[in-house]
Amino acid sequence: MKKMKCKKCSQICVKNGKTQQGRQRYYCRLCKESQQAEYIYEACKTNTNSKLVKLLKEGCGVRSISRILDISPKTVNRRLLSISNDLRAPLIKRGNSYEIDEMCTYVGSKTKRRYIAYALDIKSKEVVSFVVGTRTKKTLEHVTSTVLLSNPKQIFTDKLNIYKSLLPEEIHCTKQYSINHIERMNLTLRTHLKRLNRRTICYSKSSLMLVACLKIYFWY
Ligand SMILES: [Zn+2]
Repeated sequence: MKKMKCKKCSQICVKNGKTQQGRQRYYCRLCKESQQAEYIYEACKTNTNSKLVKLLKEGCGVRSISRILDISPKTVNRRLLSISNDLRAPLIKRGNSYEIDEMCTYVGSKTKRRYIAYALDIKSKEVVSFVVGTRTKKTLEHVTSTVLLSNPKQIFTDKLNIYKSLLPEEIHCTKQYSINHIERMNLTLRTHLKRLNRRTICYSKSSLMLVACLKIYFWY
């Protein structure tokens, strides 16, 4: 009989009873985890997380992902949260230039506007920091303070007054066309994330999920 190898560490597992459906369960002594050779339920299979992320980035909403992968919407949400929990923002390099901008979306209902403010490294096109909240000084400060920590060469923003009080004058630039990259990124985001699509019935029901999806989109 073929020996079952652990899906994480490839060690040989020992038999560990049967499931309710009568399938053999195995136990890895190294990882101290129980597993099956084959699963019936799609969500338990090993490549499900990467499929899920791919679909999310290709403009599928939670419900369409659930229909395509045959997983319940609740599980999709839970998975997205757990994937995003393991992600961290990239380390910021010193002396780079950044563009900062906000984009509008809704959370909870179409009457509740929320803003996604984020900073884009112009050279590497990497999002180094983002925040979801109202369009206030406190929210924007979260992004500007992270960027300022890295001793930036220049920061480009639109002409929103709040930025004047948050950024030192000598590195702050509000010239026309100076935030073209991030404006284009807004458009990409709106196309790729279903919940940010305009003129649809799709929007985030909770800011927790919105933050999770953005984290996955930016940093997975
Ligand atoms: Zn193992």
